[in-house]
Amino acid sequence: MRRKLVIGNWKMHGSLAANAELLAGLRAAEPFVCDTAVCPPYPYLAACVLALQGSHIALGAQDCSAHEQGAYTGEVSAAMLADLGCRYVIVGHSERRSLHGEGDQLVADKARMVVSKGLTPVVCVGETLAERESAQTEAVVKRQLSAVIHTLGHCVPQMVVAYEPVWAIGTGRTATPEQAQAVHAVLRAQLKAATPHADGMRILYGGSVKPENAASLFSQPDIDGGLIGGASLKAADFVAICRAA
Ligand code: 13P
Repeated sequence: MRRKLVIGNWKMHGSLAANAELLAGLRAAEPFVCDTAVCPPYPYLAACVLALQGSHIALGAQDCSAHEQGAYTGEVSAAMLADLGCRYVIVGHSERRSLHGEGDQLVADKARMVVSKGLTPVVCVGETLAERESAQTEAVVKRQLSAVIHTLGHCVPQMVVAYEPVWAIGTGRTATPEQAQAVHAVLRAQLKAATPHADGMRILYGGSVKPENAASLFSQPDIDGGLIGGASLKAADFVAICRAA
């Protein structure tokens, strides 16, 4: 009932030439059975829009401002991303939370701004290793999601949730399908308490997803696709992950 979604988060990687090659590789493999998107760094979005014309691969951004517009040097608004043709905006990635001090309410405000421009926020939640080892995983992800649920109100069904355990990001240490499913089930239950549409909402897993482990993760009942970092930078790997979805 839920169509799988695989999103590539390129993080701070790429160049005009490398991006063109990567997108050409993805386009050569179309069509995909799942929904797909790529999230390049801001300066490359415009070129990627052109490179993806006529493609079903959607475009997303890695972050946006919580503000509408104004004197916010260095920031990019959700309206600008909509103007360019983005469909998704990642908010609350753990690298933003930890390296840029983004708290739960700021992430929620960003999600609300994204929704208000007709785009889909991909809201990231996830626990650190210390939090997992002290049995706080459930409390942490619920707290993170709760802020967004309360801020979005009736717009909750418009978001995509991404569970990204911090200890699995860029480490090569993937959550087992069972570990991931357990947290996804918690998140699904929380969404169900907030909206009658929770069964139609997509919850992605992210954290060292590779072609070798994608199928087993995506076969779990509440894992509806992936948010892919490192493996989204190689066309063959990203295509293989999309094919596994
Ligand atoms: P990796 O796939 O490189 O572990 O990154 C995951 C991630 O942070 C995607 O947003």
